Amino acid sequence: MKYISTRGNAPVLSFEEAMLSGLARDGGLYVPQNIPQMSANDIAALAGQPYEEIAFRVMKPFVGDCFSDSELMDAITTAYASFGHAARAPLVQLGPNHHLLELFHGPTLAFKDFAMQLIGQLFQKALARRGEQVTIVGATSGDTGSAAIEAFRGLDAANVFILFPNGRVSEVQRRQMTTPVEANVHAIAMEGTFDTCQAMLKDMFNDFEFRDGVKLAGVNSINWARVLAQVVYYFSAATSLGAPHRKISFTVPTGNFGDIFAGYIAKRMGLPIDRLVIATNRNDILHRAINTGRYDTDQVFPTITPSMDIEVSSNFERALFDAYDRDGAAVAQLMGEMKQGGFGISQGALQALRAHFDSGRSSDEQTSATIQSFFAATGEVLCPHSAVGVKVAEEHLGSSPMVTLATAHPAKFPDAVEAAMGLRPALPRWLADLFDRDERVTEMPNDLQLMKSLVRERIAL
Ligand SMILES: *Cc1c(COP(=O)(O)O)cnc(C)c1O
Repeated sequence: MKYISTRGNAPVLSFEEAMLSGLARDGGLYVPQNIPQMSANDIAALAGQPYEEIAFRVMKPFVGDCFSDSELMDAITTAYASFGHAARAPLVQLGPNHHLLELFHGPTLAFKDFAMQLIGQLFQKALARRGEQVTIVGATSGDTGSAAIEAFRGLDAANVFILFPNGRVSEVQRRQMTTPVEANVHAIAMEGTFDTCQAMLKDMFNDFEFRDGVKLAGVNSINWARVLAQVVYYFSAATSLGAPHRKISFTVPTGNFGDIFAGYIAKRMGLPIDRLVIATNRNDILHRAINTGRYDTDQVFPTITPSMDIEVSSNFERALFDAYDRDGAAVAQLMGEMKQGGFGISQGALQALRAHFDSGRSSDEQTSATIQSFFAATGEVLCPHSAVGVKVAEEHLGSSPMVTLATAHPAKFPDAVEAAMGLRPALPRWLADLFDRDERVTEMPNDLQLMKSLVRERIAL
């Protein structure tokens, strides 16, 4: 299996190379050259299998011969061993035709653990084989950073630098990033928003001298290996509810478009997905794009769902690439216009997007009301991000079973949950001392030169 860039102007890579490099050298994102297909029989055979087995069968064709069967199975088994639920991604019923897919049983209580724990294992195996060391730099709106630090802490093959927007992540998120004691972990509080952090990350990657000098590697949601790991739970959930014999719809609380894009890949592989519903908060560029055909940036408004406070959804470029019939030059042109503030999606591409995706949005008030009403009706405590999904899903219920992705544990956002329903969700017992641990963090201005010096200094130690 080979990987190509969405901008059509970067080297073609293997799975391992695409995983280790993250962003393509032409500024694009890597996507598989073709999408492996699973037949109805292949899909039916997944029903009732352990999560690890489903993960192996779904991912193997994308990995090709970069990892042997036993290496891949070993990485998968280790990655999910620390999860606090035997099903890994259990389903809970919310209503007659509405289900919640709980993706928060990993070590940092958010769905990002599914991809990050696996990527940590795969990086370790690939780098050990190559005898190499890398510098991982990630930008986070909160959950990616804690998941990356948790996955890479203590590995000799990697230093990990995580840039997060100072003051714009929850206290639990911040402490998960600033309290690990391992010397290879560097938490950086940046001046600005998540988009500032993401732009800084892109600038670092586009500086080839620096990129090669420190052996930069990216584990942000633009990393193809992360998208791939997230494809798996669409299969586990859908087969639990009767796929391939009936179609299933999914609603996904969306920020950077990685999680929902994984659902799109599952559909392209042959999983009978009916609708994929994009759920946004007030920062609704994707909802506007699907509705109006204009992808125009706006300022970022802080909300009670900080992991979705994003105005430029990086992974949307992958969906555009397909919607434009894989025309890399056309995508490069749109991304150029993006720098001027936005672009119009062509009629044909918009139709292609609307064939898969619906969208909706939820204000903070609506999100809080949803937390309250679903607690009253079902006893389920939703995190605010999951509540955005549930609110939008309720507006899109149809004949197919609806699955809403619960992207984080409510205790990761206790203030918003308490404000909505009057009860403070407790952290799991093994995280109970989080607020007593010492924090270690470096505050940085939005300055590329200073950031590069800091990285060089730290890895020389
Ligand atoms: C990252 C995150 C999201 C957004 O996921 P994307 O893949 O960026 O669309 C939603 N909810 C939570 C809790 C997250 O951590």
